[in-house]
Amino acid sequence: MSLIQSLPPEFRQRCEAIATEQRSLLRVRAFEALSADTLAAKLGATLFTPDQVPNLEPEQLAVLLASDGWSGAIISDRPLWIVYNPRHAPTRRESNLMHEIAHVLLDHKPVGFDPVTGLPKRKQNNEDEATYLGGCLQIPKRGLLWATQRKILLPQIAVHFGASEAMVQFRSNVTDVPLKC
Ligand SMILES: [Zn+2]
Repeated sequence: MSLIQSLPPEFRQRCEAIATEQRSLLRVRAFEALSADTLAAKLGATLFTPDQVPNLEPEQLAVLLASDGWSGAIISDRPLWIVYNPRHAPTRRESNLMHEIAHVLLDHKPVGFDPVTGLPKRKQNNEDEATYLGGCLQIPKRGLLWATQRKILLPQIAVHFGASEAMVQFRSNVTDVPLKC
């Protein structure tokens, strides 16, 4: 089942509302880029690469530094600490961090911890929800409408919002806002 089919319209509307609210709290307009660093700072989150995490087990550090197979994780609620994979491209880092921030905004709780990496495990539905909200935080529907009404093309929309081209296409698909070509 695709991400969209699994998430009801009410939830998707709620995500757009959360994205609008977070932007307005920061006085960032819907058509402006919102970086994950800015939103994380507003939420009081500290962002770490694995080597910066205090007191991480050497074995866990070695696994995390050597692997592309993880994106990011919340390693402490209070204070809020988020670790991200520095091996990923900048646009991927943005979506990874927005995904983790979405877990915070949706108040998702871990369902356990991976014994090898020490990172939290979550329910698949929570993962789908965080991915969806993360996309809204990066490119709100109103921001995408603004761009397409100005006939801005997909690659430029991606650059404008600091997102990957795949994310722009995804947001177009899920919001029914067609891209110009
Ligand atoms: Zn997640």
